[in-house]
Amino acid sequence: MTPAEGGFGFVPGSELPNGLGRSGVIRTPHGDIRTPAFVAVGTKATVKAVLPEAVGALGAQAVLANAYHLFLQPGSDIVDAAGGLGAFMNWPGPTFTDSGGFQVMSLGVGFKKVLAMDVAGLADDQVIAEGKTRLAHVDDDGVTFTSHLNGDRHRFTPEVSMRIQHELGADIMFAFDECTTLMNTRGYQESSLARTQAWAVRCLAAHHDLTAERADKPYQALFGVVQGAQYEDLRRQAARDLAALEVAGRPFDGFGIGGALEKENLGTIVSWVCSELPVDKPRHLLGISEPDDFFAAIEAGADTFDCVMPSRVARNAALYTPDGRFNVNTAANRRAFRPIDEECDCYTCAHYTRAYLHHLFKAKEMLASTLCTIHNEHFTVRLVDDIRASIDSGDFADFRTDFLGRFYARRG
Ligand SMILES: [Zn+2]
Repeated sequence: MTPAEGGFGFVPGSELPNGLGRSGVIRTPHGDIRTPAFVAVGTKATVKAVLPEAVGALGAQAVLANAYHLFLQPGSDIVDAAGGLGAFMNWPGPTFTDSGGFQVMSLGVGFKKVLAMDVAGLADDQVIAEGKTRLAHVDDDGVTFTSHLNGDRHRFTPEVSMRIQHELGADIMFAFDECTTLMNTRGYQESSLARTQAWAVRCLAAHHDLTAERADKPYQALFGVVQGAQYEDLRRQAARDLAALEVAGRPFDGFGIGGALEKENLGTIVSWVCSELPVDKPRHLLGISEPDDFFAAIEAGADTFDCVMPSRVARNAALYTPDGRFNVNTAANRRAFRPIDEECDCYTCAHYTRAYLHHLFKAKEMLASTLCTIHNEHFTVRLVDDIRASIDSGDFADFRTDFLGRFYARRG
């Protein structure tokens, strides 16, 4: 276990034969997270459409909120005055906040991360989404951006992000980094990485000062974020530099793996990074939720994950089952008086039929979003829980073959 700083630490558990993938436990002032674990996303201090009690009941161990959104609305000072994110949203368990970097950078190009895959092969630092104006400008000191809510101009720097995240009060925070896309040139990735590393030093320094200034609050852990796009030398160097970094005797408590990742290289890139990181600190991979991606990333050494997709697609009637994804809006479900998934033990599957959910969507009833989010979040959380159990029992490879063979069978 790392020297526990006010109740934070990581205890590695079982290891996969490749020496990278593992189970473990993250200890936080608000409870333990058994890893690998999927963290539910509550962007604006709510997991959309679901009561916190139901988020707990569906199996989620932790919730991740977004510093950019909460800074704009209601303001991190309000969340601070409420007693921090967990108290404000009535979630008693562990919490994460991201740095706001990804949202701010997304404003810069008007793209979501997935878009990088649509333009593979393009290399242009000036590309922006069609019909979008550039809303963010990055310089060596920080990012100036325009609020998507009201057009106000704001500026994020490493110090501003750390101040916001300390006020939000999550157990785990992330260093402010520049998030590039796969379209950026190698030269841009190099200069961006140098900027992100310089910002990491400033984040640690600001974190040190804020921890001292707010000594009456529970300890908040800070994760450094490894960038470097698809380049092995850049990823490995970034991981080594962040792992070795200390400011005033304080290193990072864990690490995030950031940036756009091409699906086919995901496991490879995560394994480069994790093989350079210390085994006694946790590693978070930002923004994945597809079953095959979980297996690849966990085998490569990632411990925790977050993604908006399971809840976002649930609100559009797309539901996960062990036999793949389907849409409950289709006519075939009008008289389907059976649960989404016979094998699922979530609240929705215990009490409701596909036919009822189909009706709720057609009638535009709010309960549709609630019930479908509960199922998809449970499916995702439980998949990662089952992967953890398979690591502990030595059955990881067999479980992966069985699960993915069935889930993607219809894909051929
Ligand atoms: Zn279910």
